[in-house]
Amino acid sequence: MRKCPVFSQCGGCDYCSVPYTEQLLCKEEKVKKLLKDICVTESIIGCDNPFNYRNKVHAAFSSSRRTGVKCGRYQAGTHKIVENFDCLIEDSVAQKIIKDVKEIAVKFKVPIYDEDRREGNLRKVLVRVAVKKQEYMLVLVVAKSEFPGKKNFLKEIRKIHPEITTIILNVNSRTDSMILGDKSFVEYGSGYITDELLNLKFRISDKSFYQINQAQTEKLYSKAIEFADIHENDRVLDAYCGIGTIGMTVAKSQPHARVTGVELNRSAVNDAIKNKKLNSLSNIDFICADATEYMMNSEAHSAKFDVVILDPPRAGTTPEFIRACKAVSPKRIVYVSCNPVTLANDLKLFIKAGYKPERAVPVDMFPLTEHVETVCLLSQLSEAPKMEMRVKLTEFDLTEAEAKATYSDIKEYVKEHTGLKVSSLYIAQVKQKYGIIERDCYNLPKSDDSRQPKCPEHKEKAIVEALKHFKMI
Ligand code: SAH
Repeated sequence: MRKCPVFSQCGGCDYCSVPYTEQLLCKEEKVKKLLKDICVTESIIGCDNPFNYRNKVHAAFSSSRRTGVKCGRYQAGTHKIVENFDCLIEDSVAQKIIKDVKEIAVKFKVPIYDEDRREGNLRKVLVRVAVKKQEYMLVLVVAKSEFPGKKNFLKEIRKIHPEITTIILNVNSRTDSMILGDKSFVEYGSGYITDELLNLKFRISDKSFYQINQAQTEKLYSKAIEFADIHENDRVLDAYCGIGTIGMTVAKSQPHARVTGVELNRSAVNDAIKNKKLNSLSNIDFICADATEYMMNSEAHSAKFDVVILDPPRAGTTPEFIRACKAVSPKRIVYVSCNPVTLANDLKLFIKAGYKPERAVPVDMFPLTEHVETVCLLSQLSEAPKMEMRVKLTEFDLTEAEAKATYSDIKEYVKEHTGLKVSSLYIAQVKQKYGIIERDCYNLPKSDDSRQPKCPEHKEKAIVEALKHFKMI
């Protein structure tokens, strides 16, 4: 096992001194324990090489008379910098670039930012790697955009590291711990790098979210796609989609499926739209919205999805998302989670909503650390197909008024004139209200079942218009 030279000071990798096979067992056990009474946990998917996988590496600068210029990670819970260019999990070339950026900064006497006095300029450095294509992005984070000697500085770093394909100057005058500020200036190259995942290309800019372990991401997504089992014409929702990586993998795997990606972060959505073009995909669209609001809106419009994939942040999803998910009625749900604790809680709510967690597979995206990713398949518990049966019976037994238009005619008319989707149940409720249905109505629940949804006002109005059009009222 390789040894970390700063293990006791850094605190970044809890499993640093644990043999890799044991790390995998610990993580598998952790997920198994949390999902014990919920579903079967299968064997963890490990890494071929658990070292130097991080494709995003950043370091902060500090300077004092006593220590000189330092560049490294903050010690956990402090602002003390631990310098180490031999980190076991970060990309090796990225670390060399950061080491050389530091040396050039010292040589050129670039003023290092002092957090307490708010003086100086160079604050942080970030390197992102497109592993498949070996493209490197260098981001210099400064407190103000004036950077005397910038041209020579950049020339020097490019000479030593020709693998750098783009350089960005990011201006961050914030006082919080965010690495990047709002303004970015492209100093060299295109301003982005392009990586590949499962034969799709993804443009990554300085601020885009992108999974940090490329090889394991391919394994994770392959498992998610296998679980999703997409068929022709399936409507698929990729909730919390980031730059659209999972959704585009689905869209490519099944060109006749229709995929919608929903993501809150505007710049990630912009990247997703560019990535869609880059991969010439026409069966996917992206929407910038809160995933829960989108889901509740879908419920209100009676939209349906055949498969829902969700990959929320560590806090998990919301009870409202899960409730609305039931209404859009996917046959399968694939939950990708970076936190098994919130996954377990959310799965319990999905069970209440009528879904059965079938299988969970942990994936080791973050070797040497305690973190573990899990992908879980849920399937819809079959309800007696009352609605469909009743619709058919109704068509056999028509009253005079009803004979003027079928349920399908009414649905089509409403859709065409208002864009709304209405269910047979809602139509039946309105028909009964207007006295059209004189015999037993098969579209209405037999008992006064309070769980049956009531037709909302705006849909009732649309149905009434249709009934008038067909001269049924
Ligand atoms: N599926 C993507 C991203 C997963 S990370 C991938 O594999 O790369 C989680 C994503 O959820 C982030 O992109 C984050 O911006 C987004 N997010 C966070 N809160 C959200 C919300 N309330 N609604 C929609 N997206 C959200």
